[in-house]
Amino acid sequence: MSQSWFDEGELIGVLTTQPLDRLLDYRAPAGGCHVGAFLEVPLGPRRVLGVVWGPGRGDFDLSKVRPANRVLDAAPMTETMRGFLEKVGAYTLTPMPAMLRLATRAPGLGDAPSMRKVYRRGDGWPDRETDARRRVIAALDEMGGLALTLGELSDAAGVTSSVIKGLVKQGVVLEEDSPRDVPYPRLDPDYGGKELTEDQAEAAGQLCSGIATGAYGTTLLKGVTGSGKTEVYLEAVAECLRQGRQALVLLPEIALTAEFLTRVEARFGTRPAEWHSGVTMTERRRVWRMVGEGGADLVVGARSALFLPFRDLGLIVVDEEHDTSYKQEDGVLYNARDMAVLRASLESAQVVLASATPSLESWANADAGKYERIDLTARFGPAVLPEMRAIDMRGETLPGGRWISPTLQGAVRARLEKSEQSLLFLNRRGYAPVTVCRACGHQIGCDHCDARMVEHRFLKRLVCHQCGATKPMPERCPKCEVEGKLAAVGPGVERLTEEAQALFPEARVVTLSSDLFGSARALKARIEEIAGGEADIIIGTQLVAKGHNFPLLTLVGVIDADLGLQGSDLRAAERTFQLMRQVAGRAGRAEKPGLALLQTHQPEHPVIRAILSGDEENFWRAEAAEREAVRVPPYGRLAGIILSSTDAQEAFDLGNALARNDAPLRRIGAQVFGPAPAPIARVRGRHRVRLLVKAAKGAPLQQALADWVRPFPIKGQLRLAIDIDPQSFY
Ligand code: ADP
Ligand code: ZN
Repeated sequence: MSQSWFDEGELIGVLTTQPLDRLLDYRAPAGGCHVGAFLEVPLGPRRVLGVVWGPGRGDFDLSKVRPANRVLDAAPMTETMRGFLEKVGAYTLTPMPAMLRLATRAPGLGDAPSMRKVYRRGDGWPDRETDARRRVIAALDEMGGLALTLGELSDAAGVTSSVIKGLVKQGVVLEEDSPRDVPYPRLDPDYGGKELTEDQAEAAGQLCSGIATGAYGTTLLKGVTGSGKTEVYLEAVAECLRQGRQALVLLPEIALTAEFLTRVEARFGTRPAEWHSGVTMTERRRVWRMVGEGGADLVVGARSALFLPFRDLGLIVVDEEHDTSYKQEDGVLYNARDMAVLRASLESAQVVLASATPSLESWANADAGKYERIDLTARFGPAVLPEMRAIDMRGETLPGGRWISPTLQGAVRARLEKSEQSLLFLNRRGYAPVTVCRACGHQIGCDHCDARMVEHRFLKRLVCHQCGATKPMPERCPKCEVEGKLAAVGPGVERLTEEAQALFPEARVVTLSSDLFGSARALKARIEEIAGGEADIIIGTQLVAKGHNFPLLTLVGVIDADLGLQGSDLRAAERTFQLMRQVAGRAGRAEKPGLALLQTHQPEHPVIRAILSGDEENFWRAEAAEREAVRVPPYGRLAGIILSSTDAQEAFDLGNALARNDAPLRRIGAQVFGPAPAPIARVRGRHRVRLLVKAAKGAPLQQALADWVRPFPIKGQLRLAIDIDPQSFY
């Protein structure tokens, strides 16, 4: 058994949040310490946060080993949590200090608990009774001896604070100091459940019996928007609370609304702890501490809530599990959905992955029997699914270089007349996907992989969407050397926008494409404006498929439904399909029914037929087969390597050196593509270079990657980041 207690002066190994590549030896502080204890330790002239990770190594001059300053007033990190951080660190190739920073994202953990004033019932009776005074006394009596803050008490009694202060003077109400980080009120699992439909009750029963096992298990809860997934998983939360364990509900930040919290309150009688970017620093600290001490039953939070120090976590719900925002794209590159499954397996907890449009990864895991699966097929209430139709492009007359068919034009025009919005969906960034030489037929390809280059007029360059290589548009054909014959072929969103503007000169046309916005915030702001009605026609890439709600949107035109069938972008078909289903979800809420039109040259293709008929299983099966054939996720593994430096040459030199010395990768049969400039080649003054590694599903990729990069010193301005299972390739 590993040692769990260290007497004062014993050597301990401490993990700190400082970027050092090893545990540091210290001596246990006065009073001794537990393994897992949070410490303040001296480091040079500073004092830093650390956690007792185990015994010290003793490989350092023992006379120089310093004692830790003190044990912090926080619950020690559990063994499970330590194991979780180590496993996530190993999976994402993140150094442990960065993992610890992720797990301690709350301010003032070392501070003494701060105090605040609270009020409770004292003895005696007021000299003069008024209604207001009686209400204060009644409110406190109702609390059965529990104290309230001034704000809570004045709210509960409906009086001003001066009424309460008056009663304090008379000793009728007692004013006391109380630590600020107080436990959250307990949630009542039997407070306000709805009567469930038969399907819902069966689903809830299945989730609850999973929880009753007290063991690990993951369930994919699939159902159209409005089918009652939230109602059902809240029953699982209730069961988890009855078992005396804690629960965590993860939502994409954009879905973490006051409305959702009100729903939780209606179900459990009180609000849960919240963890997201809008939570104040003091509240963050309270959540962090209370989760660790067991003073919070339920946390509703964004992805980083997964790294809170739960004492006894029994259930993790990942709502909208397909949402790409679960992937953290800077700092520690982790996917909260996947890491939730990992954490649950360590905690002997259950996971519920809820979605109307699951990711292929989760579908495949359910299909393989690794996850349970529950389907809610009916909507609650009378909502209807939108109509979906194919436009057979073989029967449409379109001049060359145009993509909006007469039928689709008519549908858009009808929406314009009613002041409703249309979305033209094309999963192609840039101006044109292919650049071809009209003299010899040569297509400009990428020098680094087998993809074609895409013209981006906005950037004035050709870009490879596979590995990110870019080059200027050449004057002459690289093959036949004839000048001035290179031509754009096919549509990208930039070109489609030109066409829509020409067809509908009176309409406000906007383009939503990830490469056109400087920041996520700018994009979110723009999306909100558009949702509010500041556009008539939205031209969008997969970006619009991210669960944004456009209430005025009643028409979706898919410009090239065949595109997803070609597998050029790994998740193009999946996103197209998800978009269709999400449109379905919206249409049920709005008064007006929605219409989805798919332009296709092959309406008889199984994937198109599956989309139109709503036969999702067939769709997933076809999509899975396509991906399996080219061995991409979830049937193969990818890792992105992002090198950056203020000096472009330095980043490239390292990229080339890595590409040349790929023996550790070849040993596991993995291939490396690149280096190539990233599509966003400069971010905040840093030049970015990418490599892409592709490996077989079972290959020990992390170990090989670690062995591969280890010999290369990352010094000075250079940075190297490894993105396991990349979702974006920018
Ligand atoms: P989903 O999470 O699948 O989108 P919700 O759980 O949000 O579905 O349910 C959609 C709406 O229907 C919500 O307003 C919810 O309160 C309501 N609803 C669902 N099931 C029931 C039920 N059994 N009784 C009453 N209202 C329900
Ligand atoms: Zn390439």
